[in-house]
Amino acid sequence: MRPTGAANLAPEGRCVAATARPERPSRVVRPRSTPDPSATHPGTFDRLARPLRDLRISVTDRCNFRCSYCMPGELFGRDFAFLPRPEILTLEEITRLARLFVAQGAEKLRITGGEPLIRRDLPKLVAMLAGIQGVRDLTLTTNGSMLADKAAELLAAGLQRVTVSLDSLDDHVFGAMNGVHFPVARVLRGIDRAREVGLAPIKINMLVQRGVNESSVMPMARYARDHGLILRLIEYMDVGHSNGWRLEDVVPAADLVALIDVELPLEPLPASYAGEVATRWRHRDGSGEIGVIASVSRPFCGACTRARISAEGQLYTCLFATKGHDLRAMLRGGSSDEEIAASIERAWQVRDDRYSEIRSSHTVGLPKVEMNAMGG
Ligand code: SAM
Repeated sequence: MRPTGAANLAPEGRCVAATARPERPSRVVRPRSTPDPSATHPGTFDRLARPLRDLRISVTDRCNFRCSYCMPGELFGRDFAFLPRPEILTLEEITRLARLFVAQGAEKLRITGGEPLIRRDLPKLVAMLAGIQGVRDLTLTTNGSMLADKAAELLAAGLQRVTVSLDSLDDHVFGAMNGVHFPVARVLRGIDRAREVGLAPIKINMLVQRGVNESSVMPMARYARDHGLILRLIEYMDVGHSNGWRLEDVVPAADLVALIDVELPLEPLPASYAGEVATRWRHRDGSGEIGVIASVSRPFCGACTRARISAEGQLYTCLFATKGHDLRAMLRGGSSDEEIAASIERAWQVRDDRYSEIRSSHTVGLPKVEMNAMGG
């Protein structure tokens, strides 16, 4: 049976979260709204008064997985033209840009991709980024496939914590979703190793797709709680245009919270910082927390403080952008720090992106940049 909280496509073509929220246990109340970021921080602001606080850095457009919802194997096959090495930013170029973003207010740096651990010199980059004054949070999102071997080196380089993507504990389900039948056990080994070396807290990103891995939610919730990990349930998004996204494949985060709450009672937690993507919930018995990223059913554009630079040095001000700002041309064309900083500032000041709030049947087909190219 279809859950009552499913997202719907309204007659006029506007995608909306269903107005009928799922029947949830009365003790589960909505978390307090995210604080207004502009109220607490100075820095560069966009047209909607959102400060620049986070920078996501994609270090490669390549990945060793072929997740059906991100880089489906049919489209990202052997002959797919990934970026040639000279087109990818060097570690020095990335660090120079990161420093300029930090000077404009970015405090949190997340390294991503593609699969960032594919880049062999990544620990060196981590050390370079960790050396930038003003960076408060340095983290990495990975599929975990190579984490067991690299966790200690990453920690030693200055990485503070890690987010590992894992969509199921069931090999059959996970293998089909990752597109290369990568075994769950190897990702779990990576997570274990990250815990052992002290990369903390560890968050686990689980994308939930209707009819694909809903049955994996409870096993994942139990696993995360039992191992002191923060499970983050992510609604399937229409990023890029190659995953064949359909609104009916989205499982609203509220349904997932309600599902977990039946067995593992939850209560809301306030946002831990302004602009936090995930809405946080705590296990009532004090055994841990989960987060939900409801970017489809409950868009959080109003609190979005994230900028992204792609592996080839494009600045994107929205995950759903159709075009970026070419910072590599400036880096390689001899522009000064001041010129590049002014360009970043201008791009941020004119930013008025709020894709998830205006998502509709018309926007779904826009030529959006793919997640592997932009950085997840
Ligand atoms: N390769 C790394 C990984 O697997 O974590 C980093 C890049 S990946 C694009 C970053 C995150 O984006 C993953 O947690 C993945 O589940 C999420 N993601 C990819 N496609 C998505 C989509 N269509 N909707 C929601 N999340 C998506």
